[in-house]
Amino acid sequence: MTYDLKITGGTIVDGTGRPGFAGDLGIENGKVVALGRAEGAAARTIDATDRVVSPGFVDVHTHYDAQILWDRMLTISPWHGVTTTVIGNCGFGVAPTRAAHRKLILQTLEKVEGMSLDALHAGLGEEWPFETFPQYLDTLEKNGAAINVAALFGHTPLRLYVMGEESTERAATPDEIATMKKLVREAMEAGAIGFGTSVSVSHNGYAGKPVPSRQATVDEMDAMVSVLGDLKRGLMQITIGRDFSTRHMAEVSRKYGVPVTWTALLSHLYGPGGHRKQLDLAAEQRKSGALVIPQVSCRPLNFEFTFAEPFIFDVMKFMNELAAADAKDPGTRRRAYADPAWREKLRSEVTPLFQRWWERVVIAWAPSARELEEMPLAVAAAKLGKDPVDLALDLALANDLQARFRMAVMNFDEKEVAELITDPNTIIALSDAGAHASQLCDACYSTHLLGHWVRERKTFSIEEAVHNLTQRPAEMFGITDRGVLAAGRPADVVVFDPKTVGPGPLKRVYDLPAGADRLISEASGIDAVIVNGELIRHEGKDMVATNDRLPGRLLRHGRAA
Ligand SMILES: [Zn+2]
Repeated sequence: MTYDLKITGGTIVDGTGRPGFAGDLGIENGKVVALGRAEGAAARTIDATDRVVSPGFVDVHTHYDAQILWDRMLTISPWHGVTTTVIGNCGFGVAPTRAAHRKLILQTLEKVEGMSLDALHAGLGEEWPFETFPQYLDTLEKNGAAINVAALFGHTPLRLYVMGEESTERAATPDEIATMKKLVREAMEAGAIGFGTSVSVSHNGYAGKPVPSRQATVDEMDAMVSVLGDLKRGLMQITIGRDFSTRHMAEVSRKYGVPVTWTALLSHLYGPGGHRKQLDLAAEQRKSGALVIPQVSCRPLNFEFTFAEPFIFDVMKFMNELAAADAKDPGTRRRAYADPAWREKLRSEVTPLFQRWWERVVIAWAPSARELEEMPLAVAAAKLGKDPVDLALDLALANDLQARFRMAVMNFDEKEVAELITDPNTIIALSDAGAHASQLCDACYSTHLLGHWVRERKTFSIEEAVHNLTQRPAEMFGITDRGVLAAGRPADVVVFDPKTVGPGPLKRVYDLPAGADRLISEASGIDAVIVNGELIRHEGKDMVATNDRLPGRLLRHGRAA
């Protein structure tokens, strides 16, 4: 037999951005050994007529740090063609963690990443087989996973480990910074691909306290990045906030020769049109010798809300007045929601960002009308012959104000998003896979990019989109042996149908540990997913069982050993 696996008759789009070409692909011993012509017999052949054959997708912004300990399949990323993920983003993670801090770190993940605490406890158990970061990597390697994993070292567990609970309250002393530097070096030497952190004001952990990384001074950040500079390896990933600006990022990037990628540059983050200034800034920084790369998203940023606490409408005065009135006289809120005159306010007296807000809302959870769940509000309203705002408030009232809605609050202006995702100085990422599990699901960003932005909107050619899902993020993150189809490279391959590829509608399932729920999306048009030469998904089904030896590799230093 010449090949273990052969893919015939497809269009090969190799990840570099160059034009696709008709050809076959042959795989042996986990590697691509033939590209273009692959004559000779194979143990298994996949017919890729009318299909695209591309490198497996590289998702550089995930939060599988905990999930990987109970779900070695890393669902749902491989369903959407992802064969390599980066964990440890935003500085979150589970190592290093002392036994005494396990509960605190899980409570922090619960808050910042919207994971159910019950699921985390049940999934990780009482006894963790690791304390330090190197031990955590050893655990991942020993367990194995369906797809490849590279890890950033997280600032939040690091600070908690070194400073204890004071890490949420104060700056670090010079001694503590020295200890942290040592541990960053240890993590990098064990195979971390960089350092993740967050100064986002929205990142609060256990007991509502700021996550430890938010208490880091500019000097502490500088010290952590200096280790990467000394080692001449690794990148910094940061979720932005007030305290460590893009100017600081450019400074450390230049000073230490370290790339910095920040999350996330979204349309409307700085008001309509405000993204332009950030793109210009990124271009300028690039010219000045700093490598500061905003991460952008090809999907709208959604938030879930209820009409019991409709926090997303808080910017509107009449909403705040209602909350205040209801606090004094409980029941005011419900009466307003039932009042046609008040309903009219919610239709017409909204700020510019909320114009026609109901067109961006999905009904997420409504026990009184299960058949409407996951349906766009406007579609459901049209079906019932109702006004959408009336329907939303009727559902709220019928479900004791607990009905949940999901609304795109940013990154929904497609003209602006197109500018962001095609800009030469950004990378498309931000799937947040594994996080916000019950609230949103952007782990399907790859099939969304191919279905929506390539097929429907023609913003990218297939070659450009595949390049943005493969070689480009891999290079940015120092993942050196993934992202391109070439002879001699590991065989991470996706076979997809460009006419049908896309994410399915979001579905709520209850498959997390302790029966916790999450949203998932099944892909269409993903025919085959191959990791290190092994077929792990075929025609929408798993080809490996969770108890099998799995083909994914831990990419220490950004590559398989
Ligand atoms: Zn994140």
